[in-house]
Amino acid sequence: MKKSIRKWVLDNARKYDGKASMGAVVGKLLAENAEIKAKLKELTPDIKKIIDEVNNLTVEQQIKELEKLAPELLVEKKIVEEKKLKPLPGAEKGKVVMRLAPSPSGVQHIGHAIVFSLSHLYCKEYDGKLILRFEDTKAEDIYAPAYKMTEDVLNWLCENRIHQIAIQSDRLETYYDYGEQLISKGKAYVCTCSADLFRDFMMKKKACPCRDLPVKENLLRWDKMFVEYEPGAAVVRIKTDINDPNPAMRDWPALRINHSVHPRTGEKYKVWPLMNLAVAVDDHEMGVTHTIRGKDHVDNAKRQQHIYDFFGWKAPIHSYIGKIKFEGIEVSKRKLKAAIERGHYDDWDDIRLPTVAALRRRGFQPGAFHKFAQDMGIGLNDKLVPAVDFFKSLEAHNRDIIDPIANRYFFVWDPVKAAVKNAPEQEVHVPLHPDDANRGHRVFKTNSNFYISKEELALLKAKKLYRLKDCLNFRKEGKELVFESAEYDKFHKEGEATFTWLPADAKLCDVEVLMPDKKFVKGLGESVLADLPVSTIVQFERFGFCRLDKKDGKKVTFWFAHK
Ligand SMILES: [Zn+2]
Repeated sequence: MKKSIRKWVLDNARKYDGKASMGAVVGKLLAENAEIKAKLKELTPDIKKIIDEVNNLTVEQQIKELEKLAPELLVEKKIVEEKKLKPLPGAEKGKVVMRLAPSPSGVQHIGHAIVFSLSHLYCKEYDGKLILRFEDTKAEDIYAPAYKMTEDVLNWLCENRIHQIAIQSDRLETYYDYGEQLISKGKAYVCTCSADLFRDFMMKKKACPCRDLPVKENLLRWDKMFVEYEPGAAVVRIKTDINDPNPAMRDWPALRINHSVHPRTGEKYKVWPLMNLAVAVDDHEMGVTHTIRGKDHVDNAKRQQHIYDFFGWKAPIHSYIGKIKFEGIEVSKRKLKAAIERGHYDDWDDIRLPTVAALRRRGFQPGAFHKFAQDMGIGLNDKLVPAVDFFKSLEAHNRDIIDPIANRYFFVWDPVKAAVKNAPEQEVHVPLHPDDANRGHRVFKTNSNFYISKEELALLKAKKLYRLKDCLNFRKEGKELVFESAEYDKFHKEGEATFTWLPADAKLCDVEVLMPDKKFVKGLGESVLADLPVSTIVQFERFGFCRLDKKDGKKVTFWFAHK
């Protein structure tokens, strides 16, 4: 009985953000076995206990346990996951405005790709407008090349549907204007207390001496922030409720003095808004109706609400996603930046990095990220995603997208010459795509001399029947490979394995494939590979999907995507 209860609790929990409810579980139990109705009262404590236990697990743990206990219930999960996006609260078609708000402190990694994909998907779904806004008011954190790289990657990720680009460091005068208005209305003040002193006041829920100074005096101090005060000597604070249960909410700072040289504006500006003021002003001015951000922004949204209330503005509707922890993948921008600077990686798109730029260069498509983001969805619960699962899922989504579009080619890695005794001279036609004859085919003139991969050759067993794909059948007799026939039917009946090959006497090109561990696999490919445009995605038969990255004379370099 307990097993049955646990099964339904797990099932209910994983469907509703990790939290099962008594009513739903009882409903399922009764539907399964009506006779337990009589025993329900005595079962209730057990059910309650199990609900408590299960609700304390992460959704991943719940699903894992359910997989063991009742895998049949998860069959339907796939359908649920593949369903459309959850509706965006309060959204109307044609009236949604959302923003992507990256900080140009590094480049976008898989975690950002999830949040940004969701915003993009909702904008697309509701015919909305998508704004890319660089939040760059903290000069010391900025990595100058990140503006260009981020714009490029996000345009790609959002299928060129970004309607407007804004940069906060272009908007300083606007923030000053609102800052001054807040001071003039008595909603903000210039605090010259030291950080420690101010904290003491707030912990005691007492106003600091600056809070109640006349507006005139505060405006004077405001002017001094631009010309006289040193960094740290004064800060504009928003008047909130100093009895707020959360001390971090009490009179939070909105503008500060910062003399750091900004990569875009140099030394022109000395006073900078902090994130919450800049975000509230921008969201209002840009008409943002909905936001999706990590749940670490829940408190920030409360702070921004103060500004909305002071000005009588309507706040956007905020949705959050829980923290996604990629187990076994380092995604901290700061750590990645340090590792690149130390020379551990070539650049932000080093093939070993979990950045969108690197995965894009390997041949991953925006749609694969979108599908993954859709599976994650909006919702507050945290998710632990092991690296293996993440890549398995991203690769499966990507395969669905590129398998129908990628043409097939022969690449023989680590090639060795192999003669197939008695092989006739043939003209062999190999289709570019097995499911689409209209795309045409490649033509090879063959004789008895081939290139085969050393690795594949080593697999051959004596007397067994093998096939060179679309070309001929052969057996290994002693040390020789001997032609048997060219018909596929014979191979189909008793064949062991099919190999890729290249005619040894034809014009070929040198191919190297950069693998995710940054090692090259080298070999030979069909000469037509050298004619493909850079960025073409191909499937090398028996090897995997790859993206053409570079052409250099006779040599063609690919990046490996996945099997
Ligand atoms: Zn003060």
